[in-house]
Amino acid sequence: MVQDGRRDHARAVAQRELRLPEPLLPLARLARNYRWSWTRGGPQVFAHLGRHRWERAGENPIRVLRDLTVTELEDAAEDQDYVAEVARVAAEFDAEVDLDEAAEALEGGAVAFLCAEFAVHPSLPIYSGGLGALAGDILKEASDQRVPMVAVGLFYHQGYFHQRLDPSGQQHEYWVETHAEDLPAVPVTDDDGHPLQISVPMQGRQVHARVWRVDVGRVPLYLLDSDVEDNGPLDRWITARLYVSDRELRLAQYALLGLGGIRALRAMGIEPTTVHLNEGHAALAALELARSEVAEGVPFEEALEHARQRTLFTTHTPVPAGNETYPPDQMLDLLGSLPDELGVDPQRLLDLGRVHPGNHDEHPGMTVLGLRTSSRANGVSRLHGQVARGMWFPVFGASDPEAAPIGHVTNGVHHPTWMAPAMRRLLDRHLPAGWFDHVEDPGMWEAVEAIPDADLWAVRDELRGDLIEFVRERSLTDRLGRSETSDYVQAAARALDPGVVTLGFARRVATYKRLGLLMHDPERALALLGGPRPVQLLIAGKAHPADEAGKALVRELFALKGAGHVAERVVFLEDYDLAIARRMVAGCDVWVNLPRAPMEASGTSGMKSALNGGVQLSVDDGWWAEGFEDGNGWSIPGQTEHDDAAQDDRDAETLYSLLEQQVVPRFFERGEDGVPADWVAMVKASLRTLAPRFAATRMVREYRDGMYRLPPRG
Ligand SMILES: *Cc1c(COP(=O)(O)O)cnc(C)c1O
Repeated sequence: MVQDGRRDHARAVAQRELRLPEPLLPLARLARNYRWSWTRGGPQVFAHLGRHRWERAGENPIRVLRDLTVTELEDAAEDQDYVAEVARVAAEFDAEVDLDEAAEALEGGAVAFLCAEFAVHPSLPIYSGGLGALAGDILKEASDQRVPMVAVGLFYHQGYFHQRLDPSGQQHEYWVETHAEDLPAVPVTDDDGHPLQISVPMQGRQVHARVWRVDVGRVPLYLLDSDVEDNGPLDRWITARLYVSDRELRLAQYALLGLGGIRALRAMGIEPTTVHLNEGHAALAALELARSEVAEGVPFEEALEHARQRTLFTTHTPVPAGNETYPPDQMLDLLGSLPDELGVDPQRLLDLGRVHPGNHDEHPGMTVLGLRTSSRANGVSRLHGQVARGMWFPVFGASDPEAAPIGHVTNGVHHPTWMAPAMRRLLDRHLPAGWFDHVEDPGMWEAVEAIPDADLWAVRDELRGDLIEFVRERSLTDRLGRSETSDYVQAAARALDPGVVTLGFARRVATYKRLGLLMHDPERALALLGGPRPVQLLIAGKAHPADEAGKALVRELFALKGAGHVAERVVFLEDYDLAIARRMVAGCDVWVNLPRAPMEASGTSGMKSALNGGVQLSVDDGWWAEGFEDGNGWSIPGQTEHDDAAQDDRDAETLYSLLEQQVVPRFFERGEDGVPADWVAMVKASLRTLAPRFAATRMVREYRDGMYRLPPRG
């Protein structure tokens, strides 16, 4: 029998069940599959076991269940209402999750989704930002749509860095060890019960890795882990951290993911019909696909063509740092004996990564390798598709960018994950029955216009209120951690005002995201923050440890806390992650995005905000270039100046004008009922026009129908 980790998963569930009273047995099953996190009532059945414990455990059911005493468990099992709710949630969960059926479905054709990061849940910290969030949402939506998919990533023991600011606003990084026993992860074992171990030749040696299985609904996520005894200390470190600065180590990660990912799947008897390379990190996969055919006597070029036919490549960014290249020697060193095994001139392999094959001075890169070893390629918004064609058309020998075979699938977000329960309950009352399972249908959303303004406004007030409560608690601990004065620590309780229009600005602090634009004209910004009808600002974001300019920007934004009269109108939340994102996109009234166009390939946090009734104020770039229409938000023109400084001046001017003349009056002009009718009209237009188009439902259907090679839907 093929061992794909299902047996190991079942064993782990059974082990947990031993400790649970009969009526609570389903909790063991729920806790070991992240499907609980987007099952209605799922988070609540665990939170019920102790709100404080739940929060302290980082909303991690494995830890909560482990920490409960026998008495606490018995008490919970005697609460009839609770037991009934557990049974209801479990029934909904079981109707969606049948792992045997999902595994069988793979035999008719399977997609292997390879990515360097996955943001599935805050308790599984193997992500950095948007790429991971998107990958997590794709797995969840693929599960919901029953797309036969398996996913492969790396198990980073220390994940991405955590951010702490000192009182001067200087960012400090630290890493926290993730313990596998705290996660719903099981080591995949072979027939004899030994941990499955694969090995990947690189730099002339073998690097070994074991394989963890994490269940995300019906989709198993396999995580390769090089921290095994057979490896030397350096190789054990390969899967320690995400996006390490050391380039050699990063290449080793890519080799493990691309070559090792395919090897791991094969070791478990999974032969994908489609390999989806989500960004270039895994682009060596096609060479591994070809290797086995070459071993059977197929000439390299033919084997590569077969691999190409199976492979789909998605590019995610026009930013140079996201399209890495490496010196030819370093690449050759990494590949070791691979050219020999493939029976091919090493230069041919390097040329696969070059825009201009044969140019020995050109450094091969992962994006070009992905483009050349795949038969379908896409960008992640309509505009980004165009930008990507403009960047990469020479790879295809085309003289006209539009001839480059790169399409687009615009990103979307998983609405069961990102829509706050209060918004879902409101829509349940007003949208046609079954809307939640048919969000892609614009017809479902027409009824938004008929929601009484006061009801919609009440939900917005509630979500903003919840966010502010969270911000106050979090800034209190942030300030304590920075050893701030006790007056300032206590002032956290007064941070932000529940009656003031709340702007959210949260993202990686990358230069092109232009976080500094907010303070471009400090006087005007302070007037907005301190005026009689003020705005307030919630900021979060990490700068990559090697990005000094980004860190300087964090310091600058943080310095606003010193601006006396507006100090409590600006909060910088440390250590931006999925948990903070979830609260911010739910509670902020306006979601601000100021990329230097056209560098934002898509952006997805704005889509999450729109699902919760947030209104967009964004540069016309990425997804917003196709989302904006008159009345559903605000757009800052995206046409570009050659002079960056002039561009910044112009965009800041537009930003301030929109805030002064549009955002503030609309928010504060109230009817007799206290409701800002014009604002609510905009929220409605935003929900109605954006929710159906930017849900992951539409995105995954487009991948499934247009890009994946799968048997027709039954
Ligand atoms: C959605 C999300 C992102 C993506 O942000 P964009 O700037 O819109 O691309 C990044 N980080 C986290 C934690 C997210 O949830």
